[in-house]
Amino acid sequence: MTTLQPTEITKFWIQGKVVITNLSQSFYYMSCAGCNKGAQKNYNERFFCLCGYESTATPRARIYAQINDDTGSVSVILFGHETEQVLGCYATKIIEYSEEVKNKYIDNVSKELTTKYWILQIYADQEKMKTQRYKNFNVYSIKEAKQEEVSNSSS
Ligand SMILES: [Zn+2]
Repeated sequence: MTTLQPTEITKFWIQGKVVITNLSQSFYYMSCAGCNKGAQKNYNERFFCLCGYESTATPRARIYAQINDDTGSVSVILFGHETEQVLGCYATKIIEYSEEVKNKYIDNVSKELTTKYWILQIYADQEKMKTQRYKNFNVYSIKEAKQEEVSNSSS
């Protein structure tokens, strides 16, 4: 996994631990409820989105993280439902937390993540890849691995 570069179009599976390297990231962004595009709006604010619809600004969960296994790591970005699975919490909840409560919550999640294995399907977003220095894979799906599903990479 050490040599993985996001140049493949196809989705593929990996497994490992989710490591949140930046604990002070916001864990959500304000988005159009229709198309998920980012919007510089306040929560629940009505606005006309570039997608052509009158929309409501909604927090969408997002994590920048690393997936680590015994051989290396890969940088990923998770959105929406996939993020909420990892955090165990909805974006609409996180936005309600005070800074202090959020930090505490994230701290706990981060600690719990050190004991969990996940199976992920990831892909490279070709549009994003055209922009310079974008090195994150997108996570298409994620689920927690049961202990017996965790393959022993040394065998
Ligand atoms: Zn939109």
